[in-house]
Amino acid sequence: MLNKFNRIYLDYAATTPMAQEAIEAMMPFLQEEFGNPSSIHRFGQQAEAALEECRETLAHHLNCSVEEIVFTSGGTESDNLALRGCAIARKEKNGANHILISAVEHHAVSHTAEQLARHFGFELEILEVDSKGVVSPELVRERIRPNTALVSIIYANNEIGTINQISEIGKICREKGVPFHSDAVQATAYLSLDVEDLEVDLLSIGAHKFYGPKGIGALYIRKGTPILPTQTGGGQEWGLRSGTQNIPYIVAMSAALRFVQQHQKQWNSTLPILRDWLIDRVLDHIPNSALTGHRSQRLPNHASFVFKGIDSQKLLTLLDVDGFACSSGSACKTGNPAPSEVLLALGLSKDLALSSLRVTLGKDTTSEHLELFFDRLKSNLEKLTA
Ligand SMILES: *Cc1c(COP(=O)(O)O)cnc(C)c1O
Repeated sequence: MLNKFNRIYLDYAATTPMAQEAIEAMMPFLQEEFGNPSSIHRFGQQAEAALEECRETLAHHLNCSVEEIVFTSGGTESDNLALRGCAIARKEKNGANHILISAVEHHAVSHTAEQLARHFGFELEILEVDSKGVVSPELVRERIRPNTALVSIIYANNEIGTINQISEIGKICREKGVPFHSDAVQATAYLSLDVEDLEVDLLSIGAHKFYGPKGIGALYIRKGTPILPTQTGGGQEWGLRSGTQNIPYIVAMSAALRFVQQHQKQWNSTLPILRDWLIDRVLDHIPNSALTGHRSQRLPNHASFVFKGIDSQKLLTLLDVDGFACSSGSACKTGNPAPSEVLLALGLSKDLALSSLRVTLGKDTTSEHLELFFDRLKSNLEKLTA
């Protein structure tokens, strides 16, 4: 029931273990098939063939053409290329200098947008969300201006699991003629990434959130979207992302995506039952507990709470000693824990935001894991409030 270290991992939103299929798929490309895909000879051709096959796998999954896929080093780089590349190109082309993002974006989006505002002459507008973390499509419509360069709204939030109505927002942006980016890094394992249904122009994914390796991701860029490369060099990836492609990791990401395709339906039926069992147990049996994020419009593997009066860092430490790995709203390293901006955006007080716990399930989670977890959670909370 436990893994070989007697530990139970409940932090799949932070990262996932690699699928065995992904590890096996990439091994030949670390060994005999090591060629550079830009080389003319057979070694290169072999690598090039693998690269293009992976591109087709991604394009098929996203319902786009292969020319619209750019491989990157992960979710962060995809977000950077989308925001930086599109905002700067739009400014050059149309003089558009207004960037619209939500208050619940990942730092890869929000800090990039802040830098564009601080150093590159953009005006940043941050859209408020409701108390469940939902971005209102109508509010997006109201706030788009004639000079809006780009809109970026997260698909499913990493801290609170809330899912946004991306296709509604996409429709509005398209009507207004404004490029629309969505960070789909957390959504990839569970939700449809069909870019036609979603009506997005740019979509970020990162492999390590869906059983692929860390340090690899992709950006979908709709044909015709203004974009300036943010990394220049040898001109790989249609000139939009120079640098020799990481073939082993691209192959592993592609295998991980096939793994997701095979299991997504099953996860979407089993995980919400486990998730809801935990949510109900916590809300019914733990005093001063509350759910953060939306009750139903949330990722199937995602449960997140606040416990009034509790220091989440202390709680995480006790749980870790008991063998359970989960996280708080934001990743704060040693020392000075800052309350999560996402939780503050929901209207929570600073103290309440510092009492958060995120429990994210995944392919190996069982009801026994959650029963053991709930038991230790309850007693540790009692310990901390005693
Ligand atoms: C993890 C994550 C990222 C960053 O992805 P990396 O591949 O770790 O760079 C971006 N956005 C969201 C929503 C994430 O969960």
